[in-house]
Amino acid sequence: MVSQHVAVIGAGAAGLVAARELHHEGHRVVVFERGSCVGGTWVYTPVTEPDPLGIDPSRPVVHSSLYKSLRTNLPREVMGFGDYPFLPREDGSGDPRRYPGHEEVLAYLEDFTREFGLEEVVKFEKEIAGVRKAEEEEEGGKWKVAWTMRNDGGGGGGREEEVFDAVVVCNGHYTEPRIAEIPGIDLWPGKQMHSHNYRTPEQFRDLVVVLIGSAASAVDVSRDIAKVAREVHVASRSYEYDTLGMQSGHDNMWLHPMIEKAHEDGKVTFLDGSYVGADIILHCTGYKYHFPFLETNGIVSVDDNRVGPLYKHVFPPHLAPWLSFVGLPWKAVPFPQFEHQSKWIAGVLSGRISLPSEEEMMEDVKDLYSELKALGIPKRYTHNLANSQFEYNDWLAVQSGSQPSEEWRKEMFLESTRKMQARPEVYRDEEIDETLISQAHEDFAKFPS
Ligand code: FAD
Repeated sequence: MVSQHVAVIGAGAAGLVAARELHHEGHRVVVFERGSCVGGTWVYTPVTEPDPLGIDPSRPVVHSSLYKSLRTNLPREVMGFGDYPFLPREDGSGDPRRYPGHEEVLAYLEDFTREFGLEEVVKFEKEIAGVRKAEEEEEGGKWKVAWTMRNDGGGGGGREEEVFDAVVVCNGHYTEPRIAEIPGIDLWPGKQMHSHNYRTPEQFRDLVVVLIGSAASAVDVSRDIAKVAREVHVASRSYEYDTLGMQSGHDNMWLHPMIEKAHEDGKVTFLDGSYVGADIILHCTGYKYHFPFLETNGIVSVDDNRVGPLYKHVFPPHLAPWLSFVGLPWKAVPFPQFEHQSKWIAGVLSGRISLPSEEEMMEDVKDLYSELKALGIPKRYTHNLANSQFEYNDWLAVQSGSQPSEEWRKEMFLESTRKMQARPEVYRDEEIDETLISQAHEDFAKFPS
């Protein structure tokens, strides 16, 4: 097995487990993290960006999009890494709930970091500014990785560079807002913001709010805001016709189809002809993949939120295995999937696992694109693994010779998803099938606590 010198970008859940797996496989790892601690998304901050829509490219970037009231949307048994269960603390401290608050997830990632000695390989406050393949004659075709010191007083003088055999990109994809296009918005007099900059509901007190979106954040944030706002009008692309109108359990929240137009007099009209005079539009419309540091001469690009071409969402065929990505899929259980991807990458880099030829990997990517096209699925859904995440994880497990997803994890995930959809207000405090919980805990007993 060959030991490579590997740069990992980001010390969130993906970067941490990638570092662990790479180290375990015998590689020499350096993790570059622009923040001052581990945890990525799970490092909550009340600070928001000065541009509430988050579209000004020169804005100072705040990484995390967490809101203060956030509790996980997965049971902790499902959410944790495969061999490092996310259990309540034995001394009763912390937040023992099955769907804990965000502080508990950060504490878990900090424990994970300590348990596997990862602090030693993370370089904090180093923001990766450039990643490019060196010319063959320069450095034997290795990767030149450049970084700046995040807190250098803005002077930008601290750019440094190091050469690596391989780079694993783990920079997260919930920081760069996607905004809905709204006809007439330029003349509409109200305020707009993106959920990236939402922390607490107070600023919405007594206002009429139009909130766009229907994914997990939209569901949580609309309910958070409804506690103080005069009215909350949710505009959604996907809805059942008979669910439109006032939402059960609320006397100030309505569901509408998408916005048709925003008008100069402050009115917002919806596609079914309904309208409201609104004070603020809140875009809970998701995020863009963003790799401002990658210089691949177009070999890897982002097109309508498709990162490609990537073999199995991980390796660009032309640069494999020397460049890879962990954590691109969405609508999947993140941490265990990061672990599966990381084991595969680590094994490929050491030569323990072989990849198909570049041509074969390209064929596989093209087949996926053709399949999505034939099904009428837009490019921006390329990395949506909702219906195939466990099949995908099991494929990765076969490659790396590791354990496939546990049956209880699959079933508990499905059960919690059904409950979330049916009862978004209360699903976190409902019971989960006891048999599944016992199976999970029997499995956990195999690991040292
Ligand atoms: P991140 O956690 O975003 O980490 C990326 C890291 O890269 C950051 O530390 C960042 O500072 C660093 N970085 C970025 N660019 C650079 C650079 N140029 N140089 C150096 N460092 C850089 N998942 C769940 O499992 N359960 C949940 O309940 C859940 N709820 C969520 C709620 C919200 C509002 C959001 C936004 C996400 C939620 N997620 C949830 C998904 C969550 O993003 C993943 O769980 C996971 O934290 C992603 O990890 P990551 O390492 O890929 O990215």
